[in-house]
Amino acid sequence: MSNHLFDLIASRIPDPEKIFIQSLDGASISYRQMLSASARYAHALVALGVEPGDRVAMQMEKSPSFLFIYLACVRAGAVFLPLNTAYTPHEVGYFLSDAQPKLIVCDPERADSLADAAAQADVRIVVHGHGQDGELYDLAAASPPDFSNVARGAGDLAAILYTSGTTGRSKGAMLSHDNLASNALTLVEYWRFTPEDVLIHALPVYHTHGLFVATNTILLCGGSMIFMPKFSGPQILEAMSARPDRLRGTVLMGVPTFYTRLLDEPGLNREACAHMRLFISGSAPLLAETHRAFSERTGQAILERYGMTETNMSTSNPYDGARVAGTVGFPLPGVSLRVADPETGAALPKGEIGMIEVKGPNVFTGYWLMPEKTASEFRPDGFFITGDLGLIDDDGYVRIVGRGKDLIISGGLNIYPKEVEHEIDSLPGVVESAVIGLPDPDFGEAVAAIVVREKGAAIDEAAIRAALQDRLAKFKWPKAIYFVEELPRNTMGKVQKNVLRANYGA
Ligand code: AMP
Repeated sequence: MSNHLFDLIASRIPDPEKIFIQSLDGASISYRQMLSASARYAHALVALGVEPGDRVAMQMEKSPSFLFIYLACVRAGAVFLPLNTAYTPHEVGYFLSDAQPKLIVCDPERADSLADAAAQADVRIVVHGHGQDGELYDLAAASPPDFSNVARGAGDLAAILYTSGTTGRSKGAMLSHDNLASNALTLVEYWRFTPEDVLIHALPVYHTHGLFVATNTILLCGGSMIFMPKFSGPQILEAMSARPDRLRGTVLMGVPTFYTRLLDEPGLNREACAHMRLFISGSAPLLAETHRAFSERTGQAILERYGMTETNMSTSNPYDGARVAGTVGFPLPGVSLRVADPETGAALPKGEIGMIEVKGPNVFTGYWLMPEKTASEFRPDGFFITGDLGLIDDDGYVRIVGRGKDLIISGGLNIYPKEVEHEIDSLPGVVESAVIGLPDPDFGEAVAAIVVREKGAAIDEAAIRAALQDRLAKFKWPKAIYFVEELPRNTMGKVQKNVLRANYGA
């Protein structure tokens, strides 16, 4: 029987003995082992009563088993629902009552704290240990290594990923087998992945970046991954270096913070990166300064791409052409992208800032149990309204200006935070900044800048004000400037402007 996503994965395995995952110490898992482990877990899920279409929630630390259980869900026709390991039991309770999964798989230490939330939502907890232990592991270990995959078509759901929900309630983005398959195939081609590739995987796996962009791309090129529990600069350098007993990385996928932290590593230089063919960044804006500094140190231009949970990947800088800092490149093949008037959805001319809207096989099928919300986020002609503001420049590159909800309207005038941040960031002594709108009785919103200085830098409020006077129209000048040691970021490296608004808005 045909299973749209898993058949494709299986058909692209170059050699079953090939290494799928390796850890830094050289321990390897082959594609053959991936096939048998995912089959065993699929049997275990079925034994636990999981039926096609059932959701299977999971809050578990990163490990190869995490990926096998994801693949087991695909094979069993279930809908995989990974949850951020940082979510509290209270937050998990919301996801369980909203998604009504058949069960939740978790680490042993979480079981007690999740018990109440799971009981309230009437969801069974199934533990998976960190080694060869736990109910789910035991059930899988006792199951056969072959599984007859449940038939699933292109449009059937493979996963629900809850959006990070920095504003409002988190929504479950429903992703079909073909959303995932088509996007990963596009990325394999666009980024020239081959079975020879070794991806250094240091991203979390509960998020679209580490789970789909990274893992599915490797699965569909038949390549290998060096799998790390989390980011560590020295370990990335180690994975890029030659050692006879293990693979050597060729590609890194990271969030911008990976790159700023790598730049702090004294060992980062051309020789250290000599075996690397590609560095990719996404999930948050990469500072042009980071792009420049990285290419000076390593001779490699980071390739920035843009996507979101709901759309998978939508744009990418080119593999061969110029990778332009501060842009996210061109729409990927098969993806239609327009910058539109936020009110009407009418396409705007090049160079004008508007709402980024996308359409294509990459775009999700809707928000779980929210038909009205879903309808309001799509235009009648099928374009999804991303909520990101941007423009298409004269060369066709897409530039993101910020989230629509971060737009500041002060005295009736629109201020794009990125423009102000850009000017502040370019001042000597400034590392980075975040510009937000705070409630103001006169103007509706007032511009506020939160600035991170270089250690020991003398730049102060007066110097910033003086510098901005010649560069920005008066209505864009910050009315308040605050200095902080660092900006609050979530695990994907996104600056949490909602936290800043709450901290400074009182
Ligand atoms: P998520 O759904 O967690 O992947 O978040 C998606 C959001 O991250 C997008 O809507 C953008 O606001 C932001 N994002 C992703 N990639 C980039 C990028 N390369 N530059 C700027 N923002 C990005």
